Amino acid sequence: MTDSQALVKTLDFQLDIQSDNESLLYDATLEARSVYNETIRLAKQGVDWDAIPDRVADDANLVKNTTQRVVAKALGAMENYYEYDDFGKPSHTKDGAYPLRANYEEGYNLSLTDDGDVAFRISAKPYKHVTGVLKGSDANLDILQTALESDEWKIGTAEALFHNDNAELHVNVTNTEQTVRDKQDSRTVVGVDVNEDNVALTALSEDGIEDSLVIDFPEIKFERHRYFTMRKRVQNAGKDSIHDTLEGREERFVRDRLHKVSRHIVEWSRQFEKPCIVFEDLKEMRDSIDYGTRMNRRLHHLPFRALQFYTSYKASFKGIPTAWINPEYTSQRCPMCGHTERANRNKKRFNCRDCGHQDHSDRGASVNIAVKGVKKLDWNVPALNSLPVVRKVRRRASGAVDAPTVTQPTVRGYQADGRMGVSD
Ligand SMILES: [Zn+2]
Repeated sequence: MTDSQALVKTLDFQLDIQSDNESLLYDATLEARSVYNETIRLAKQGVDWDAIPDRVADDANLVKNTTQRVVAKALGAMENYYEYDDFGKPSHTKDGAYPLRANYEEGYNLSLTDDGDVAFRISAKPYKHVTGVLKGSDANLDILQTALESDEWKIGTAEALFHNDNAELHVNVTNTEQTVRDKQDSRTVVGVDVNEDNVALTALSEDGIEDSLVIDFPEIKFERHRYFTMRKRVQNAGKDSIHDTLEGREERFVRDRLHKVSRHIVEWSRQFEKPCIVFEDLKEMRDSIDYGTRMNRRLHHLPFRALQFYTSYKASFKGIPTAWINPEYTSQRCPMCGHTERANRNKKRFNCRDCGHQDHSDRGASVNIAVKGVKKLDWNVPALNSLPVVRKVRRRASGAVDAPTVTQPTVRGYQADGRMGVSD
């Protein structure tokens, strides 16, 4: 049985309030608390639930639909309590802020500014607004900007709340056209091996390896090292503000490049039949025994998780599912014979100590990741009798053009059975 999933996301943002009335928003969250409490109190008294919204709304100093949303949430909590009574009976005597829940274009509104920011306007109280711009992760802002400009997306309810004294807005968005295919319903697994200066991809189906690609991005590594040196220099000179500016610039540069690379990965994957993109779960790696210096380096050298995350959500916009596997030994295992040994690998060169298979080591890792993905989906792993020649593309600083550089099969495998590898 397969189920496609509606593409629903909750995006968390910080509120950069520019209307200079943060206390108004805080007051509204206190008012939301009293609406919540009053709803629970009436429900406990046995008042007909259908009558509660109007009774509460009459006294509440909130926008009407916001009151209704808070009442609905309180009644939802009561319903949960009755259905699963181990939840604990909702309290009507707590104080403090309660999330202000609002319908889009009724209780709150969003718009794109000329600067590319997302401006918000929250009706905290009737005819009283809190305005400003949203701050948040690049990925969340990217999704929200897309949602604001596209008919494919529906912006739903949001909650304004205080988290560690900071005002936040949590926005629900749904993609109305797109569903993410159930990963069990895939026909191709794309293994993604992320490194400091490249990402290696291998598409594997039940028939064997469909294709491999290595996307080089040496300028990300180069720029990060350059910024690192610059930051060190100004830090030693005690110029912290310049340090922060540089850090911001570096971050924007890296994020911009990672977005481009992640787009490239998704586009490449789309050429295959029903792809599922598979990543190494680096979180799991931290707990695993064989940590390895390579992984250690990788964890610290590049925002790998950012690249994985960008790729994963861009893939989901195209309906492509993602899966995560344990990264253990993916860089040491020979994809041809399965022999696993650290000495198999020497930087970018893989040379199996057992069968003599030679390969670009990152491509080999992406094959292993794809194989683990296939196992995770419970397919039969096809026999890998030969690997295709590795193709490389280089993302240039301009970003616009990819110059494909087809590498020649300069090194042949030890066995004369058509297995091929490449040197760098
Ligand atoms: Zn081998």
